Parts: sequence; structure tokens; C-alpha cells
Amino acid sequence: MEYRSTRGNDQKVSAAKAITTGLAPDGGLYVPCAFPKMQADLSGLTYEQTAVEVLKLFLTDYTPEFLQSAAEKAYRSFGDGAGKTVSVPGHGVFLELWHGPTCAFKDYALQLMPHLLVEGKKLLDDKRLTHILVATSGDTGKAALAGYAGLDGIRISVFYPQDGTSRIQELQMVTQTGENVAVYAVKGNFDDAQSGVKRAFGDKELAQELAEKGAYLSSANSINWGRLAPQIVYYFYCYEQLVAQGTVTRGQAVDFCVPTGNFGDILAGWYAKQMGLPVGRLICASNENDVLTEFLSTGVYNARRPFYKTESPSMDILVSSNLERLLYHVTSDAAQVKEWMDTLSREGRYEVSEAVLQEIQKTFACASVDAAGAAEEIASLYKESGYLMDPHTAVAYAAAKEQAKENVCVVLSTASPYKFPGSVLKAVGQPVPQDEFEALKELEQFSKLPAPEALKNLQTMPVRFTQIIEKEQILDVARG
Ligand SMILES: *Cc1c(COP(=O)(O)O)cnc(C)c1O
Repeated sequence: MEYRSTRGNDQKVSAAKAITTGLAPDGGLYVPCAFPKMQADLSGLTYEQTAVEVLKLFLTDYTPEFLQSAAEKAYRSFGDGAGKTVSVPGHGVFLELWHGPTCAFKDYALQLMPHLLVEGKKLLDDKRLTHILVATSGDTGKAALAGYAGLDGIRISVFYPQDGTSRIQELQMVTQTGENVAVYAVKGNFDDAQSGVKRAFGDKELAQELAEKGAYLSSANSINWGRLAPQIVYYFYCYEQLVAQGTVTRGQAVDFCVPTGNFGDILAGWYAKQMGLPVGRLICASNENDVLTEFLSTGVYNARRPFYKTESPSMDILVSSNLERLLYHVTSDAAQVKEWMDTLSREGRYEVSEAVLQEIQKTFACASVDAAGAAEEIASLYKESGYLMDPHTAVAYAAAKEQAKENVCVVLSTASPYKFPGSVLKAVGQPVPQDEFEALKELEQFSKLPAPEALKNLQTMPVRFTQIIEKEQILDVARG
């Protein structure tokens, strides 16, 4: 399988090259040149075995033996929670993606991708130091730190918006151990952090300077193909569980409703559909930052709008990078995609044609749900079934109720409710202690279920990183 840039058709690269590089040299994103069809019978396979079947179709330069050992290392810590699909009778089906080490779905990609990167460098005989820069709205940062800490030949620097994450998310990052890690709070919001990182990637002089030192920059954000490929797996795995549980018969279409920020998670579902999985519609759920809902309804992408800090911070994004991949696949026109992206960075908006919009709308539905709407769903679902969701999942649950039609609709549950204890307590009408760890204890008592140890332990871990920087200083960090 070869990969090419969404903004230029000429140069094709291997999976190892796409994963070690991150962003294509022309600023585009790497996409597969074809969609492999899933031919294997996945019934009865473990999560790791399913991962190998999916990944070997895309990562053809890696051996299946390597992929198997990488999948085993990556998903061991999930216990039997990998890809867990839970039916709440009368209310819906949840794909719980938060049984990994950092309690959010990004672990699926970020526990595996570090192995793909290290092996990719070996395949390419690349001995340079990889400096990974990560802009995070909260969950990517910790998941990337956990995945890359302590790996040889790799350094990682994480940038999060100051005051833009929950206290627990922040502590997860600033307490990270390991000699090769660093964490910075950036003044501004997620888009400031992301644009600072993008600027570092685009800086030719900096690249030259680093090359002379035997180093280069790479990305762990979902612009990296190594983030997307592992996320395709759980759509297949979930479908097999639905068949095994008798929720659907094989071949019957299933809709997925995905709480969306950078459009990576939902796009992985679109790839699964291209590979032959019977995916009906993909429902894109947004919070108050409803740029994608507007785009999917009107064809106008307008990032020049107020930015809201919400109860679902990992979706607080105005520039959804992975949409570029979908636009490329739908149009097969790299020059057109480049023009849209140039217009976006110049004018903050672009508009696609009616034909392109209609093609996208064949698969994608959308809804945006505000904090009050999501909180109501947390409360009523809990009251009626005892099932507790986090605020991101609740946005998707509400969107699914609004948009779901006749198909079974799976809601992707992207974070543990214990990761956002204050918001969840508030939603269910309980008093919210100031201190987030008090809130965590309260929520445990309220729900009568234990919170994940990894979250409880944060309270006593030493804080290692306290630096606050301007977004312009991201370049200096990248240089250093
Ligand atoms: C990152 C994240 C999302 C959004 O996922 P994208 O791939 O960026 O669309 C949703 N929920 C949670 C909990 C997240 O961490």
C-alpha cells in the first residue's frame, strides 16, 4: 500500500515513511492510494487479532509478525476492555473506548503508534532523533506521553491550552515521568497550540537546522496516518460483537455516532466502510463549537466564529484537520483540496460545491448539542438505566437520539465519566466540590463504582512541568 499527500499527487511513499514523517512535505496529509477490502473472517477473533487483520492491509511494509507483537504490547493493558460494546436495553449501544491506560479513546492509536514509528525508522534505516510535537485539547497529550515515554531515539514535547483542559487532564500530563518528555501550557486555546505546532512543521529553516543536528520533527496528532489506521480496528471489532450478541445479522447496516473534534475518530469509521464494513450513516456530533455541523449541512467551512470552552473540551476545535482527508477522497482532486486549505488559512473559511456536499451527505449526518442538552442526557440515562456517561459521550448520545433512523446506532463512548467528575456530578444534580479529586470521590460514592486507579493516583504524583509559554515560543521548543 502506498500513500500520497492530499495536496499533491506525484510522490508516493510507504506506510513507514508516512508514519515517521507525519505531515507531507507540501503541508498535506498522507492518505492511502486505495481502499483494501476486508476479506478475512473476523468472527471470534480477539481484539489484537482483529487489529492485525486490519493493519496488515494498510501497513504492508511491516511484517504481520511485527504487527502481532506490537498489537499485543499495545492492548495488553486494556485487559478484556478493548473494544468493549455495551448494550443498555431500551437506550442504545455504546462502544466503550476508555478502558486503556489514560481512560480516553486516544489510547487505541497512541499505545500502538509508538511501536509503528520505532519499527518504521528501522525499516527506513533512519537513525535520526525524532522530536514529536503534540498540540492537545486534553486527551491526546497524556495518551501520547504514555505511549512515547522512555523510547529510544525519540523526544516528545506536548503543548496544551492553558485553562483549556480539565484539572485531571492537566495533571495527567504534567506528572508524566520519563527523561524524553516535556509538557508546556500555551497561552490561548487549542487552535493556538495547534497552529504553533503546524508553524514549526512548516518552517524550512528550522528543518535544515535540525537536520544538521541529526534530528527531525514528527507529529503524534491525528494528522499522522499512524493515528488513524489503529482506529479503524474497533469499528470492525464492534460489528463482530453486535453479530455475536444477536443485535444485528451479518451484513445488516449499523450507524455510528461519534463525538467529533479533529474528525479523526469518525473518519476511521468512513475508512472501515470503504473496506466493506456494513456502515450505514456516520453521525458527526459536535458541541457548541459547531463548525462541522454547519459544514455538513451547508458546505461552508467557517472557522471565523466564537470559540467556546465547553464541558466537552476534547471537542473544542475549530479547525478539524482530518476533514481534509475526506475532501481528498471524495474529490480525488489534490489541487482543489490545496486551494480550499489555502483559502482556509488565508480567510478562515472555504466552501465546497453542491455536488461535493451531496456526496459527503450520502454517509454523514450531523447534530450539535450544547452543554445543557448533554447534561440532561447524562442525568436521564443514569436515572432510567444506571448507565453513566462522560460529557463527550453524552453529546454523541443526544445527537444519536436526534438523528438515528431505522438502523442500530452505536454511540462511541470516548472517555470514562470519571475523567470529568465535576461535569458529571453537576449533570446528575449533585453538589460539585471545588477540588476535582474530591469530586472524583463523590462520583465514586454516588455511582457506587470505583474510579480507575490511574486517575485516583494522580493526586499524589509529583508535578514535573509548570512552564507557561506564548504560542510563538513553540518554535524555540522545537529547535531545542
Ligand atoms: C479527542 C476526543 C474526541 C474527538 O476525537 P477526534 O478524533 O478529534 O474527532 C472526542 N472525545 C474525547 C474524549 C476525545 O479525547
